[in-house]
Amino acid sequence: MKTPIFMDHHSTTPVDPRVLTAMMPFFTEKFGNAASRNHSFGREAEQVVAQARGQIAHLIHCDLKEIIITSGATESNNIALKGIAEAYRDKGNHVITAVTEHKAILDTALRLEKQGMRVTYLPVHSDGLVDPGAVLAAITDQTILISIMIANNEIGVIHPIAQIGKIAKEKGVLFHTDAAQAAGKIPIDVNAMGIDLMSLSAHKMYGPKGVGALYVRKKNPRVRVAPLIDGGGQEGGIRSGTLNVPGIVGFGKACEIAEEEMEQEGARLARFRNRLQEIIWNGLDEVYLNGHPTERLPHNLNISFAYVEGESLLMAMNEVALSSGSACTTATPTPSYVLRALGIESDLAHSSIRFGLGRFNTEEEVEYVGRRVVETVKRLRLMSPLYEMFSV
Ligand SMILES: *Cc1c(COP(=O)(O)O)cnc(C)c1O
Repeated sequence: MKTPIFMDHHSTTPVDPRVLTAMMPFFTEKFGNAASRNHSFGREAEQVVAQARGQIAHLIHCDLKEIIITSGATESNNIALKGIAEAYRDKGNHVITAVTEHKAILDTALRLEKQGMRVTYLPVHSDGLVDPGAVLAAITDQTILISIMIANNEIGVIHPIAQIGKIAKEKGVLFHTDAAQAAGKIPIDVNAMGIDLMSLSAHKMYGPKGVGALYVRKKNPRVRVAPLIDGGGQEGGIRSGTLNVPGIVGFGKACEIAEEEMEQEGARLARFRNRLQEIIWNGLDEVYLNGHPTERLPHNLNISFAYVEGESLLMAMNEVALSSGSACTTATPTPSYVLRALGIESDLAHSSIRFGLGRFNTEEEVEYVGRRVVETVKRLRLMSPLYEMFSV
């Protein structure tokens, strides 16, 4: 077994070798600009971009004309929120989202507030799920957009998207969803789920970094979006700039593979995830699962290990790449706002670890990581006076 072991697949994923193979020719001999229709280099690039667009569209059951290529889900989220706020300014000034959204939504919403928009940040239940009834109750005659992610990037919970989509349709409000964590992992159908706009990211699904997409519904209703970037008019004028042809080809291939292998891979990773949880639950007391036990991504596990600092646990197992529920961007670590939104108190939030299993993890790695976690938590707890007090 090789170390370090990567179990942080919510932050990013390796490029699948099949994706890399598909991309390679488009860096060198097939380097055309997809907008250069007057020669064969350009036409070939245009054709492979169309093919990739088709693969992306197929994964989410939309038309390829509804796919706007972007640099990733951050940009897609920005276009969705700011672009809708501007295009529908005459209709209203209210947006609904949730407190556990990714920063690419929350900070964009904050920017809109500074520009005079009104934003409702819905709370979540202690299992991490948004209540569709709360979405309905928050809608006013000024509401132009609801933005609720499909799956959460920390706790992996899957929101009741089809129910929210249905409410949005009935109320005539546009519905955007950040699907960066869900796409390629669980089935998505924009029509069945009532989704009008959706953000995707290639690097969360074994494609390259720096490529993503925004799905924008073209009929029932035809959604208008104001661009953030002006220029050559690519992507229907919504996102100008020369297309990243190799990246787009890779994204398309990643979507094709995901669609083909999603069911099997999801079942395998769920088995691994359940085994990891079993090892931890058998070996330790005072461990808590964060987020809904079943309405969650198959490869996600988020656990609080009481009486142990998540950061200390990660440092003591530096041959395993994991994420903790504390952000150490400042001198004093702040506990995850997602965990706090579930009502988890600060100490337990600081003791949380996110496991994100992925395509290339092995059974042997799962057994190893499970054993290492149990042994390390036990060792760290020996140094904890609080744990000692608890256990007597
Ligand atoms: C990773 C992620 C993003 C950001 O995507 P990029 O492509 O890295 O910009 C946005 N939302 C969620 C839920 C994510 O997990």
